[in-house]
Amino acid sequence: MSKNYRSELVGVLGDPIDENPTGVVEEAAFAELGLVYRYITMLVKEGDLQNAIAGLRAMNYRGINLTIPHKVKVIPFLDELTEAAEKIGAVNTVINNNGKLLGENTDGKGFLTALENADISVINKNIFILGAGGAARAIAIELALAGAIHITIANRDPERGHTLTNLINRETNCSANCVVWDNKIDIPESTEILINATSIGLFPHVDRKPNINYETIKVDMIVSDVVFNDPNTLFLREAENRGAKTVNGLGMLVNQAAVNFELWTGKKAPLGIMEIALKKEFGLA
Ligand code: NDP
Repeated sequence: MSKNYRSELVGVLGDPIDENPTGVVEEAAFAELGLVYRYITMLVKEGDLQNAIAGLRAMNYRGINLTIPHKVKVIPFLDELTEAAEKIGAVNTVINNNGKLLGENTDGKGFLTALENADISVINKNIFILGAGGAARAIAIELALAGAIHITIANRDPERGHTLTNLINRETNCSANCVVWDNKIDIPESTEILINATSIGLFPHVDRKPNINYETIKVDMIVSDVVFNDPNTLFLREAENRGAKTVNGLGMLVNQAAVNFELWTGKKAPLGIMEIALKKEFGLA
């Protein structure tokens, strides 16, 4: 019987990228199922994206993840988008179907699953999201589709904030408004779930936190951060100090990684193994 020495290639493109732990999670899953796949973590600068995608096509990559700053800019280089990716306007996962590159977005699905796993429902909830970038768009659309009643977007760039608000109002039954985030803002008392969907606090800037009035975080709020490296962000520590229940970015990461695994391999993801691998990486298991 002939042997197959060829690996199926997948990976992630981004900048910064060195601290992205997704490879650890995906490799643990490949090993568990005995699949000959390799997940490569690659530094790709903003201006090099088009060449990088052409390279992936040439090397027959099975798929790829995209992170900052490529999620929106990759779209013109792909062949088609799923309905979710089209609505969200950002892609974090590409599947190479016999040379045709399909863009999907699994960020919001991963975030929603992480909340559900912490016994938090978004149905009829009032949600406040900091940020209007790729992660914020994915999360806002998925939470709106899952039954959130109202979403407020706070963003530094007002145009991006308005674009996302309009998208939610147009595409879902959830209502939305936006506020310009140009100085320290208060979190409205009606907020039930507060989410930092910005990159503030992302490694190596772990000493930074969103510019909000932390006294306005109330004990009955759920507070979540998309930043996963460090999972115990200054933002979450501030919320914990005020007695709020917190959900860190690790759950979102592992759950979206599981969806990606299934899209690339067609096999059920070994979620428990993936969770353990990620927790070990962060010294939590
Ligand atoms: P984008 O570059 O698309 O968006 C970044 C957002 O952060 C924008 O809203 C931007 O505002 C805002 N922002 C950045 N710096 C500041 C600042 N100093 N003050 C105010 N706002 C700021 O990035 P992504 O949406 O792709 O990623 C955001 C974060 O989500 C990253 O930390 C990423 O690692 C994390 N992430 C985590 C995942 C997980 O699985 N846990 C999955 C995906 C992402 P503006 O529009 O004004 O520039």
